[in-house]
Amino acid sequence: MPIDAKQPYDEQNIFARILRGEIPSKTVMESEHSLAFHDINPLAPIHVLVIPRGPYVSWDDFTAKASDAEIADFVRTVGEVARQTGADAQGYRILSNSGKRSGQEVAHLHVHVFGGAPLGPMLAR
Ligand code: 5GP
Repeated sequence: MPIDAKQPYDEQNIFARILRGEIPSKTVMESEHSLAFHDINPLAPIHVLVIPRGPYVSWDDFTAKASDAEIADFVRTVGEVARQTGADAQGYRILSNSGKRSGQEVAHLHVHVFGGAPLGPMLAR
């Protein structure tokens, strides 16, 4: 069920639980304000999720409320993930679903990093 990007932050969402170490994930890299881990259901040979450590529901929420330090760290981590995984060698895609119409399922901001193969058209028609 897609979530509302404007809803209050839910401390029990699955990525909050990953951040607290309550459920396992396969870490790609960590930084002061961000965590990157492999998607449990990869849609490309490289499919990594990058999340801020702070309690932000969506891109909208994050860019309205996060500090410059958190935003800079997050954007740099996305780039570093692309380099560390080798996704940058032949091209990659970053994507963040925000709210109901996008199909966002997990109510904690995440950027998908896809790579490792041709990725097809930007959107299904
Ligand atoms: P969204 O549709 O919200 O943009 O993407 C949510 C992503 O989270 C999906 O690609 C889904 O496979 C991934 N996901 C959901 N639950 C888990 C989990 O427990 N662990 C990991 N690593 N990924 C998850």
